[in-house]
Amino acid sequence: MNKLAVHGKNLELILGNITRHSADAIVNAANSRLVGGGGVDGAIHVAGGPEILAECDRIRSEQGGCPTGGAVITTAGRLDAKFVIHTAGPVWRGGGIDEAGLLACSYRSCLELAEKNNCRSVAFPSISTGVYRFPIEKAARIAVRTVIDELKRRAIERVDFVLFTSADLAVYEKVLEEAARDMQ
Ligand code: ADP
Repeated sequence: MNKLAVHGKNLELILGNITRHSADAIVNAANSRLVGGGGVDGAIHVAGGPEILAECDRIRSEQGGCPTGGAVITTAGRLDAKFVIHTAGPVWRGGGIDEAGLLACSYRSCLELAEKNNCRSVAFPSISTGVYRFPIEKAARIAVRTVIDELKRRAIERVDFVLFTSADLAVYEKVLEEAARDMQ
């Protein structure tokens, strides 16, 4: 299953590169210092251009970066979006330091900030499941369930998960199916 309607809003799973995706807000799986990095973070800065990092630098000097589970918003530069929302997901350290709670917090913080900035559509990568090593199935369950809960109460009409590999997409599809079953 790759699509779910939630209270008239749409959640969709897509295989692709998030830097080529179109949405009001594109989410970046950043780090708390907002210094750019590898993975999706590097790809967003390369594709979006230097304006994004310049705003990240300003935010870091004004407020010291982004706490784990928090989010900050910048221009989207050359990306096909109005904003990039940068969140620092948790590094997986075995599950004993509330990584699950922090990951849910990341998704909620992004959607709260998106709503505050009048975004109707938001695209997420799979936060924390690359270099930060959060187990993909646990992470997908948190991602999908948190987004479903948020869609019910926020003025956001569309959330896309843009998954980079077909293996990741398959996990998210399975988890979406489970979540849809639980909603019935
Ligand atoms: P984190 O540090 O939060 O783990 P990573 O960027 O290392 O962030 O990985 C997060 C996820 O983003 C991984 O599943 C990775 O495959 C995926 N990813 C990497 N590049 C892209 C891209 N261009 N578009 C979408 N997802 C991407």
